[in-house]
Amino acid sequence: MVVVMRGNASETDIEKLIRAVRDAGGDAFVSRGRNQTVIGLAGDVARISELPLHAFPGVDDVLHVNRPYKLVSAEAQPEPSTVMVGETPIGRQGVTLIAGPCAVETAEQTLAACEMARDAGAAILRGGAYKPRTSPYAFQGLGQAGLDILHDTARRIGLPFVTEVITPADVETVAAKADMLQVGARNMQNFQLLKEVGMSGRPVLLKRGLTATIDEWVMAAEYIAHTGNLQIVLVERGIRTYEPMTRNTLDVSAVPVAQSLTHLPVIIDPSHSGGKRDLVLPLVRAGIAVGADGVIVDVHPNPDEALCDGPQALVRDDLDELRLTVSRFAEASGRHVVRAGARTAVHSA
Ligand code: PEP
Ligand code: MN
Repeated sequence: MVVVMRGNASETDIEKLIRAVRDAGGDAFVSRGRNQTVIGLAGDVARISELPLHAFPGVDDVLHVNRPYKLVSAEAQPEPSTVMVGETPIGRQGVTLIAGPCAVETAEQTLAACEMARDAGAAILRGGAYKPRTSPYAFQGLGQAGLDILHDTARRIGLPFVTEVITPADVETVAAKADMLQVGARNMQNFQLLKEVGMSGRPVLLKRGLTATIDEWVMAAEYIAHTGNLQIVLVERGIRTYEPMTRNTLDVSAVPVAQSLTHLPVIIDPSHSGGKRDLVLPLVRAGIAVGADGVIVDVHPNPDEALCDGPQALVRDDLDELRLTVSRFAEASGRHVVRAGARTAVHSA
């Protein structure tokens, strides 16, 4: 069950409700969104249902949720969420472009890639300092030094940035510098990591696991929400199928499905799904056309020398087309391109 509190509900109202639920042998998990607080109830549903929850002060609605996720469900909050990354929103009101290098390699490469991202109209930067690699012999990222480079570069450019954290022990360090934390596909069901990133209080970019169903992906988001942090963005980044022509298969259907199940923003990653430069722009078009709330793209000043994922990185010659593609497809679907720091501003192609 989920209790949706009114916008003007007080802390006393919330505490009163929690006490009543606990007295009835249940438990209550509070999640505070920007506009509304929702409280997920767990325990003996029959006993909790006997409480006159509708009559409690500050209660707007009481919902019986059949799906296993409560706090992130569309039933809990019919209005889609907007997640703020620094001053930049991600949500249904516009299309947000996130771009940057797959990995931070050097200060020069990071600056060049982040300038490329800005020039393409990105409102948020991306870059990996801690890299989850399939092979232990592959470049593992610069770690703390990479985080410092990315932080200094992003502040110099004046855009917020998202970076991946791969282990619970690093969450505090990464959260101290990053505007948003990424949980990568390989860590989607690392439940301890999900709890730690949730508790960091930072917004979280949650990638779909390579073999995860949509339900499992949304349940992973529920783990984060369970800590009281509803600032979550889902990323469809391609799933593993029998098709070897692409690195992964971008599941475009997952975008509207996840948007109907949850109130969370859903974006796509055309770089890690297609795995090839030539596929990135077609997949950007597909993603925005099905209603994605944003796109996260790899760029590199010199991909032939990239230490990670060079073949999928867009190059300087692609940037104009990336900017135009995002802008035209956003416009065609009745939305605007989100500009850095502008809650609803439009920027033209
Ligand atoms: C990344 O974004 O650099 C990354 C490793 O992505 P994924 O977890 O989707 O493979
Ligand atoms: Mn990558």
